[in-house]
Amino acid sequence: MFERKARKMINVDPLQTGGKLTEDARKALIEWGDGYSVCDYCLTGRIEEIKNPPVYEFVHEKLPKFIGCDVVRLTTGAREGIFAVMNSLAKKDALVVLDSNAHYSSYLAAERAKLKIVEVPKTDYPEYKILSEKYAEVIENVKSEIVLALVTYPDGNYGNLPDVKRIAKICKNYNIPLLVNAAYSIGRMPVSLKEIGADFIVGSGHKSMASCGPIGVLGMSSEWENIVLRRSEKFKNKEVEMLGCAARGAPLVTLIASFPHVVERVKRWDEEVAKAREFSRRMEEIGFVQLGEKPHNHDLMAFHAEKLYEMSKKAKKGRFFLYQELSKRGIHGIKPGLTRFFKVSTYGLTWDEVYYVAGAFSEIVGNGIN
Ligand SMILES: *Cc1c(COP(=O)(O)O)cnc(C)c1O
Repeated sequence: MFERKARKMINVDPLQTGGKLTEDARKALIEWGDGYSVCDYCLTGRIEEIKNPPVYEFVHEKLPKFIGCDVVRLTTGAREGIFAVMNSLAKKDALVVLDSNAHYSSYLAAERAKLKIVEVPKTDYPEYKILSEKYAEVIENVKSEIVLALVTYPDGNYGNLPDVKRIAKICKNYNIPLLVNAAYSIGRMPVSLKEIGADFIVGSGHKSMASCGPIGVLGMSSEWENIVLRRSEKFKNKEVEMLGCAARGAPLVTLIASFPHVVERVKRWDEEVAKAREFSRRMEEIGFVQLGEKPHNHDLMAFHAEKLYEMSKKAKKGRFFLYQELSKRGIHGIKPGLTRFFKVSTYGLTWDEVYYVAGAFSEIVGNGIN
């Protein structure tokens, strides 16, 4: 029952490559799967103070060091971290600045926090880059108060990594706090809020930190602690934005169980980039266009494949032919129905798997289909 075929296939779905459980996490999931089991030894009513499982050490020592933050909290996801910050800083008629590659949930978080949105534009096809100086232009042109700026690092459409350090400097000059959405970077590549020089950072456990999720991490510099992590008036030990305890249970325990592996894999980031670049090179040889930054700096890649689109018009399965052809070859993760534009991640694949997946595309294009 509930068998999942994709688990045994080569998975190239960007959403899933960084969220696969480690063996340690898989064991922890079974051991701590019962509801509220992590609350066994909670003595203070605050999840981050639980000593067994070692939540305290994780939230107060290991994680802050890993992402270069003074203060860290666990949220239900990256989006909930973004919302907590926006909701804490929101004022009537105020604005938030978003890069135009921002995730849809950043827009929704702003809407939920009743903030207006102004967008930093991106460059045109095929790179779609967010240029740091555009932040200054946008900020200069806005008349209402800006309470927060956000940059997506990298974005989930093209895997572009904007110059966050420069963006942080620009925002600092205008005295606007900056949030770095690192849902696709924390847990894959080295990221440090301190090095970037921004105010807030969020990550996603199920996207990039080998946790079953839903869980996110929210880090900040200490100056924001009293604002974003303010306590309830009635329940003095509870933080309002977290609604007391946010992430808990299996999502949290799998995150902690995978963490030592995550710390190690981040050190191999250069090789992940090398794999992505080699994959991109091979895909371009077939005649596809890699969108986003080139040479690419992240495992998430988007491709424009006019050839596959043309083929889909004649295929018996229509636009589902690509999904089918890849499935036949044991490859999972291109969304069913997509042919012209699609995303791929090579994260965690072996070199042989990288060659095999590129080879499969080449074969599909070369052989034609029926
Ligand atoms: C996946 C993703 C999110 C959402 O992450 P959750 O942890 O599921 O909330 C937010 N931003 C970006 C850029 C993403 O890719």
